[in-house]
Amino acid sequence: MVSGGDELLVFTDDEPVATVPALPEWHILIVDDEPDVHAATKIALRGLELEGRSLTFSHAYSAAEALTLLQQHAHFAIALIDVVMETEDAGLQLVRTIRDTLKNSMLRIILRTGQPGYAPEIETIRQYDINDYKTKTELTRVRLFTSVTIAIRSYAQLQQLESSRQGLEQILLASRELGKPAGLKLFAAGLVTQLCALLKVKEECLVCAAMQHTQATPFILAAAGSYTPWMGLPLQQLPDVTIREKLTQTLVQRQHQFEQGITVYFQGANEQALAAFVDVASPLDEVSRRLLAVFCQNISIAFENLQLYLSINELAFFDSAVQLPNRHAFIASLNQRKADDNVVALIDLDNFSYINNVLDDSFGDQVLQAVASRLTELFHDIACVARVGGDLFALHGSAVSVSEARIASVFAEPFVTAQGEPLRLAATTGLIKLEDTQQQGIQILKNVGIALKQAKYFSRGQAQWYEAAFAEAARERMTLLSRLRTAFSAERLHLNFQPFINLASGDIVGAECLLRWKTEDGHFVPPDKFIPLAEKSGLMVALGEWVLRSALRWRASLKGVVPEHFRVAINVSQTQFNEPDFVAKVLQTMAEHHLTGQQIEVELTESIAVGNIKLIAERINQLRAQQISVAIDDFGTGYSSLSLLQQLKFDRLKIDRAFVSGEQSGSESLGIVKTILALAQHLQVCTIAEGIESASQQQLLASLGCEEGQGYYFSKPLDENAFYQFITAARVNQNGH
Ligand code: C2E
Ligand code: CA
Ligand code: CA
Repeated sequence: MVSGGDELLVFTDDEPVATVPALPEWHILIVDDEPDVHAATKIALRGLELEGRSLTFSHAYSAAEALTLLQQHAHFAIALIDVVMETEDAGLQLVRTIRDTLKNSMLRIILRTGQPGYAPEIETIRQYDINDYKTKTELTRVRLFTSVTIAIRSYAQLQQLESSRQGLEQILLASRELGKPAGLKLFAAGLVTQLCALLKVKEECLVCAAMQHTQATPFILAAAGSYTPWMGLPLQQLPDVTIREKLTQTLVQRQHQFEQGITVYFQGANEQALAAFVDVASPLDEVSRRLLAVFCQNISIAFENLQLYLSINELAFFDSAVQLPNRHAFIASLNQRKADDNVVALIDLDNFSYINNVLDDSFGDQVLQAVASRLTELFHDIACVARVGGDLFALHGSAVSVSEARIASVFAEPFVTAQGEPLRLAATTGLIKLEDTQQQGIQILKNVGIALKQAKYFSRGQAQWYEAAFAEAARERMTLLSRLRTAFSAERLHLNFQPFINLASGDIVGAECLLRWKTEDGHFVPPDKFIPLAEKSGLMVALGEWVLRSALRWRASLKGVVPEHFRVAINVSQTQFNEPDFVAKVLQTMAEHHLTGQQIEVELTESIAVGNIKLIAERINQLRAQQISVAIDDFGTGYSSLSLLQQLKFDRLKIDRAFVSGEQSGSESLGIVKTILALAQHLQVCTIAEGIESASQQQLLASLGCEEGQGYYFSKPLDENAFYQFITAARVNQNGH
């Protein structure tokens, strides 16, 4: 566009449009109410080029117009201002406004006046940083030339200083921004923004990351402007060949490049590096290059810090064995609880310790990996999947996604081992709806853990939703357990003894030891309540050993008081029996008290038969080899199979009291009792009936061929002294007959 001299406020570009991108021109603003001066000035300055840049002119015919232009455009290098225009000092007022109101300190100002002698005070010239003050006649072409040249040089210097200052500020800002711990993607996106801001270009920038140490192909981590769709692409697949080669070269040569756009290099830790491409049309000046170098150094440091943070983060939040987030990460995800309709599930593999022990550890790892990858496959997109413990996995997602059915489907098909063998797995699941708990992360996990525990106790292999009542019950159990521990260490536990009677002769042939817990306030806590608790908590092993020692010591103390074959029966729980050194302990204690095997009986319930039957049979045989007898307790209530009874060799069946005097006694249970007695005969084992409460029950059982009995009819369980009196009284009775 060519300016017509008399057009107002035309903002023009006098030069023809260049085909090669030229450096930008110097913008000169001529402010004068006389159109002739505008024309004369342009003629005077025609052809002037400074530092390879030509001049371009804008025109204002009053101070007010000039102000409007200056407000709209910040790119003027020089304003040639007439002092007298609409008012006598309109030019001077304009200068004040430029410096004070517009805060434009860069613009170089040359004041001109038509009236000689009308000079502003020297003070004003200094205060407002005016480059030159001349009368129009003084300003010959040559002088104007010189004046403008000097003004432009000083403008260029000011501009450089300013852009350095801004650039340094930008770098500080960028380091602060990018120094914050974030993910690699966020870092890269921030890098795009900061780099474009530094170079003062629109966001047309690509960042690509190279992971040289893993030999993985570099890929585009962040992109802006028209490159946005390329985000995530491997570098090799970039459609633009030039950019692709530039990024590749930069990564290989580890150097910035400044031709055809700018490509910068950031070295991180561990041979990792980033390269960024910025689409800038004109070459960078010296200042910008230096600034860019400082920027890159700073950002490389931020990048290294980020990697350090990421790897620490990875260690702290990621379980690399199964490639899943870990417990910390899961709790963090729970802490940002999304919606109340969300569900958290805790999945525990059944019998994993068995898999791990029987087969080797590496097999266990493979199993965990297989479960993890199937969970990932099924839940990845819809829920947070994590491994929160050894064989414990967790899910967090919407109620629709994290459903019982979908979890069950994980285990519906067999897994395949590395050897290609199918392996069937089962799991127990605890679930919680977030609307049922007001709590945060760890507490939610605790509560869903309570539901899982509940399921493990009562419905193994199935799912159980959390109910607030569980928590109450669990809390009670915990309190009871800690009181039990205290009682145990304070020796507030003791044994009671309940005699076994030969039903035919009425002789006392032995006694069962029953554990008693008397609290400080004199209450008895029933063993049915505290023994299962001790079992689950592992306390039962120590408790059981104590019972064993006390029972055998008691038996030894009865030497000479009771017949030689009087046997002491101890109840042995599953966990105690499973202890590897259980048999050794029994034999050792027996020897310490100089007892023989015939004086000892071990009562086992059918529940011990869970696990390796061969191992159990072997232990039983070791006891029996020492003449210690083994009784199957609570017989008839469990789910023992005949085949199991045949595999285990034992000495005595204990008919549960439920069939003798309990709820189930009556004509129906009479049938059961008869069957049990027949079975015992078939297996050639002895029988004892629990819970005999009356003479008629005694007579009935005796008539059916049951050998021994135990129950309130003969005696309640007695403490040591009472039992002593009981047997001595019985002996007196017998002797009296
Ligand atoms: P259990 O082995 O079946 O013990 C017999 C239970 O029947 C005892 O209950 C006893 O007091 C009760 N009883 C005896 N005669 C009668 C009767 O005529 N009528 C009725 N209704 N009940 C009778 P207790 O002492 O409450 O023990 C409960 C359970 O606690 C025992 O059942 C046993 O499983 C367990 N237990 C007790 N002491 C120990 C121990 O030292 N170790 C282990 N592992 N378990 C023990
Ligand atoms: Ca028993
Ligand atoms: Ca029993």
